[in-house]
Amino acid sequence: MVFGGVCIDAGQSDGLEKPQEYLPPLPDLTESQSTVRTAISRICSNFPDDYWLHVDNMKQWPREFTNAIAKDGWLGICMPSAYGGAELGLAEATTMMQTIAESGGGMTATSSIHMNIFGLSPVVKYGSEEQKKRFLIPLIEGKERACFGVTEPNTGLDTLKLQSRAVREGAEYVLRGQKMWTSTAQQAEKILILVRTTPLGEVDKASQGLSLFYTDLNRDSVKVTEIPKMGRAAVDTNSLFFDGWRVPKKDLIGEEGNGFKLIMHGMNAERILLAGEAVGLGLAALRRAVNYAAERRVFGRAIGQNQGIQHPLADSWVHLEAARLMVMHAARMYDEGYSAGEYANSVKYLAGEVAFTTCERAVMAHGGMGYAKEYHVERYLREVMIPRIAPVSREMCLNYIGERVLGLPRSY
Ligand SMILES: Cc1cc2nc3c(=O)[nH]c(=O)nc-3n(C[C@H](O)[C@H](O)[C@H](O)COP(=O)(O)OP(=O)(O)OC[C@H]3O[C@@H](n4cnc5c(N)ncnc54)[C@H](O)[C@@H]3O)c2cc1C
Repeated sequence: MVFGGVCIDAGQSDGLEKPQEYLPPLPDLTESQSTVRTAISRICSNFPDDYWLHVDNMKQWPREFTNAIAKDGWLGICMPSAYGGAELGLAEATTMMQTIAESGGGMTATSSIHMNIFGLSPVVKYGSEEQKKRFLIPLIEGKERACFGVTEPNTGLDTLKLQSRAVREGAEYVLRGQKMWTSTAQQAEKILILVRTTPLGEVDKASQGLSLFYTDLNRDSVKVTEIPKMGRAAVDTNSLFFDGWRVPKKDLIGEEGNGFKLIMHGMNAERILLAGEAVGLGLAALRRAVNYAAERRVFGRAIGQNQGIQHPLADSWVHLEAARLMVMHAARMYDEGYSAGEYANSVKYLAGEVAFTTCERAVMAHGGMGYAKEYHVERYLREVMIPRIAPVSREMCLNYIGERVLGLPRSY
């Protein structure tokens, strides 16, 4: 049997082999998902763990990787074919992102393209024909990169209270405010940004009066400052400060005041996609742990022969596989038009937690070497915190389930 790049053959003496060069097929995937996995796995085989360690150490944008993905057209996997996309579903995109993370690229690799894969779904669904041509074609070709500005320093997860303002002045809006944690803003030419156009006190519902723009990240008007952080050093995350940033009205997506609804459209998809990335990272960690457990000999035998090492790894495989199947189920339901959020929130929570447990176990299975950079699992452990926190915290996922599925009173 094959899992996560590792062959398990019950007939072997130690039952374990080295990983294959390409990640193995998965038994439940459709033909198109399998095609995606094989093709992406081939690209990723050119970017081994040492590449990801190097860019992490050097804080160096993984340009070679993003170019390789763009060159073969993968940035447009979910985009309409009219603009150069492949028009495949979220299930294919999730397969792609899982495979990238699983190859050893982890969150560094996936975050370098994540926003471009599904982030512009509000533009796809609500943008005008002129906007779609202007925005989607260069994004799919890899000529423009996008970042995403929602989170703010003073309001956090309470998105409806965000304080950045846009005031209309003729054919422009003038933006003032701050954003926090905007990933890839050092690289991106464009930003999808949510700001308030009508003050909170003047709307009937807090979800009204927010507007969404997709526009140039004009560095003359926006101060972009990188935030030093725990992991994923190659892919920057930033605070933005802007005061008097003039944005043309033609960059407003949909109607003024309707931005929250637009942004919500992409949120379930993003959570599912990120859950796939978490599963992939967990599988990468498991593969390394299994290989090390098979090779490392102490007390005259492979450490993987000890149940104290073997059972946690077997348990992780079971849980990762359960998470993976649920992630794919959620993606397929999304593709079939299911729009409620219980599965998206559940898989985001589940995959993040299972991947975290696996990454921690992978470090512990390596003993002291788990703490050494050259064995890669310490990098995975640093990176696996991201899918637990972003794009929405695990607590907010559980709030959703508590209220909307279990019917318990809102706690905040
Ligand atoms: C590496 C990284 C990249 C990111 N990239 C982006 C990006 O590109 N664009 C972007 O807009 N944002 C981005 N984010 C921001 C991310 O989405 C937020 O950090 C996340 O949504 C949590 O918001 P916060 O940090 O403001 O936490 P806070 O809102 O300050 O919450 C802090 C803690 O309190 C908990 N909490 C708060 N309220 C409740 C409640 N009612 N019930 C239970 N628990 C609660 C939260 O779950 C969390 O654990 C990124 C974050 C990270 C770490």
